[in-house]
Amino acid sequence: MRRPIVAGNWKMNTTVDEGRALARDIAAQLGGDPGVDVVLCPPFTGLSPVHDVVGDGPLLLGAQSLNANARGAYTGEVSWTMLQGLCAYVILGHSERRTYFHETDADVNAKVLAALGAGLTPIACVGEHTEQRDRGETASVCERQVRAVFDGVAAADAGRVVIAYEPLWAIGSGQPATPAVAQDVSALIRSIVRELYGDDVARQVRVQYGGSVTAANAAEFAAQPDVDGALVGGASLKAAEFAGIVRAFTPL
Ligand code: PEP
Repeated sequence: MRRPIVAGNWKMNTTVDEGRALARDIAAQLGGDPGVDVVLCPPFTGLSPVHDVVGDGPLLLGAQSLNANARGAYTGEVSWTMLQGLCAYVILGHSERRTYFHETDADVNAKVLAALGAGLTPIACVGEHTEQRDRGETASVCERQVRAVFDGVAAADAGRVVIAYEPLWAIGSGQPATPAVAQDVSALIRSIVRELYGDDVARQVRVQYGGSVTAANAAEFAAQPDVDGALVGGASLKAAEFAGIVRAFTPL
């Protein structure tokens, strides 16, 4: 039985004070352990303040990227060494990083390897853009990206990797994928992991769906056997809405 995982990607939103307040509101909405790994991913400037708010409680913390180098002359970057002890998760290869900052499959793979080496759990994002979908390339694009994520990942580490299927056309559009599409692509992702690492690892790996998930539609995704959670953008900035999504994934 995989423990569901719902992560909130706050993107480049929330000041330090807003981040603290949002974390407090989410904690109050959820009460105790919801039976789901709930990961708050503020911008880098929010990690320490939100860390102070969530303490050792059930809410977990994630970064939105990392630099795969340990330290050095990389102005403006934040390395994996700086995240150690501050957060447990890190979102990698988000489509906005791939599009605006030109991160390649190889870059994402280097970051995944750095995260795993640092003891951080990567949430690696894959997904096709609109034109690729329209050309019928969803499976081939996701397969290429998933294989790149796992390139060089040891079998002992592979089960820790979380994959988020996030079709670009669904992100921030208010037009989520259908639950059937989310299920099909999630099952495909699991089958690739099975081919690479065998059945035990394939059963461990958690696959999230991301793209216009709301409290109103989350239950439909949660009902899919290969969808183990959600990566949430816009709705993660509203405490009650985000808590509703978490509850939809809470095992009965
Ligand atoms: C995202 O950017 O990861 C995302 C899923 O955004 P939204 O939920 O706003 O579609």
